Amino acid sequence: MKNNNTPVIAIHGGAGTISAATTSATQAQAYHDALQSIVRAAQAQLLKGASALDATCLAVELLEECPLFNAGHGAVFTHEETHELDAAVMDGATLAAGAIAGVCHVRRPVRAARAVLEDGAHVLLAGAGAEAFAREHGLEMVEPFFFSTEARRQQLYRVRDTGRVVTDHEGAAMTPPLDEGKKFGTVGAVALDMHGHLAAATSTGGMTNKRVGRIGDSPLIGAGTYADDRTAAVSCTGSGEMFIRVAAAHDVCARMAYGGATLEAATHAVVHQSLPAIGGTGGLIAIDRHGNLSLAFNTEGMYRGHARGDEAPATAIFA
Ligand code: ASP
Repeated sequence: MKNNNTPVIAIHGGAGTISAATTSATQAQAYHDALQSIVRAAQAQLLKGASALDATCLAVELLEECPLFNAGHGAVFTHEETHELDAAVMDGATLAAGAIAGVCHVRRPVRAARAVLEDGAHVLLAGAGAEAFAREHGLEMVEPFFFSTEARRQQLYRVRDTGRVVTDHEGAAMTPPLDEGKKFGTVGAVALDMHGHLAAATSTGGMTNKRVGRIGDSPLIGAGTYADDRTAAVSCTGSGEMFIRVAAAHDVCARMAYGGATLEAATHAVVHQSLPAIGGTGGLIAIDRHGNLSLAFNTEGMYRGHARGDEAPATAIFA
């Protein structure tokens, strides 16, 4: 096993219409601090030789526990004022993948996705079956109200009457000055480890006011999450239906594998051409096997952070 790659980690906390004009300095600082500390935690693991799979799962688990982001605690509400969480993880070394969809009792959905990957029999488990699987694997279960925050509840009330289904950030944006809501708060991580392996993980509460039973791109391998050591690791955030329709994460890898595109060209084509062509908004983070990084979005901003080797983490919100 070669051991000489400089590890790289990147995370996102969702993309969307996060307007610089209406984001207070205090709000922005809270996001920067959260992103910094989570990048740092994953970076420290990678520098100790941890696998990309472990590092991405750790980063996503920390993002799930942070109420600023729409995943785990802080997840958005469905039309029925319930939570339905989705998560996926993929190992670029083996193409092993695991995902869960529509759960409301699993405290850390990404751990359940990882357990599905380790188990190996299936790739995607949904609803009651996914919860039974998580319970059998000893994962921590909670009552659904554990995920609820007042900010997300108010977001649902604002949106529900409009009949629209919006991303986390849009929902918040509907009450000025909290443009915070006009964003997709899904979280994700991609990493390249010292051993030259790639991995991707994504977790989400989905979209505010979504229909009960709706599943977005995040837990669908190839749509919101994909990793292949031969090309890249990708985690997406945005209007899930469109990401599903263009198989966004896999399309980045396919453009590289079949067309010889660079990571930058491949992500640009997906984010700035394929998605907008069908009204898709959002972004993605991606790392290729050489450690190149792309953080691409067609919205005003995307919460993001990354670190290469032992360099200090960099975080950003706006373009
Ligand atoms: N892509 C997610 C979904 O459609 C939403 C998001 O990125 O915030 O479920």
